[in-house]
Amino acid sequence: RSFHDGLAKTRQALGGRLAGLFRRGGKLDDAFYEELEEALIAADVGVETAMALVDELREAVRREKIADPPAAWPLLEALLLKRFAGGAVDLATAEAPPTVYVFVGVNGVGKTTTIGKLAHRLAQAGHRVLLAAGDTFRAGAIEQLQIWGERSGVPVVAKAPGSDPAAVVYEAIQKAKAEGFEFVLCDTAGRLQNKVNLMNELNKIVRVAGREVPGAPHEVLLVLDATTGQNALLQAKAFREVAGASGIVLTKLDGTAKGGVAVAVREQLGLPVKLVGLGEGIDDLQPFEAEAYVRALLS
Ligand code: GDP
Repeated sequence: RSFHDGLAKTRQALGGRLAGLFRRGGKLDDAFYEELEEALIAADVGVETAMALVDELREAVRREKIADPPAAWPLLEALLLKRFAGGAVDLATAEAPPTVYVFVGVNGVGKTTTIGKLAHRLAQAGHRVLLAAGDTFRAGAIEQLQIWGERSGVPVVAKAPGSDPAAVVYEAIQKAKAEGFEFVLCDTAGRLQNKVNLMNELNKIVRVAGREVPGAPHEVLLVLDATTGQNALLQAKAFREVAGASGIVLTKLDGTAKGGVAVAVREQLGLPVKLVGLGEGIDDLQPFEAEAYVRALLS
């Protein structure tokens, strides 16, 4: 699914509103800027970010002596794009395989689904992928990962429920090294209610990975559910304290009219959005592309 299709709900809400605002032959007056700010806030780009965008747009309009709303449109596009500049979007890979990614995030955000989709994507590209069932806590998590493994034809290393997740990751990495798997994707538990335990658990996984493969984990990806809007940001901040992260996966962008949240995430967390979920299907995971995203947001 493309960004354009995946962001249909947001496009209908925000794009339509913005298009009306910019296309109608009004003036670039206070009423215009107020409505723009409201539309951006409604799309969940965040109050601070919306205010900053509007201020910057006012400034750019003045500087470039723009007279009417249609001419200001490309300026808004450029200001949004600028917010995604810097920070590599491509997933880091190991110099010598295996590349190890650890996925963190609270239950229900789409962690297992994302791992399944990415496994499929990598396998389709001809890579040998192994999954590590590191969520040994939640009932059903291991089985769910195994189902995704079957779907994408990728083996899963799992131990009994309640086992030490770091031991699962260790075993998966040993298998990857012995059998030549290029990627190890590690699921983890998401019970933020018990912060200290979770922190210890995730830190141990990271430590074990780093000991077994130089530079691992090559990514710690924090998975966030876009439909939870600004709550996703609060969750991210809590999680960052617990686990640290190198990038964001924003899931369920297709399920919300508030798809502007990627802007807020990028701005307020200072972490690159690396992948986005645009549906429940196995193919509905895309590398984040700022231009396609901003275009989909505004069109
Ligand atoms: P986990 O608990 O974090 O592992 O979450 P799951 O992977 O089990 O996903 C929870 C629910 O979200 C499932 O019903 C998924 O199908 C759904 N889901 C995950 N990613 C997406 C997405 O990008 N779009 C939509 N619409 N649903 C998604």
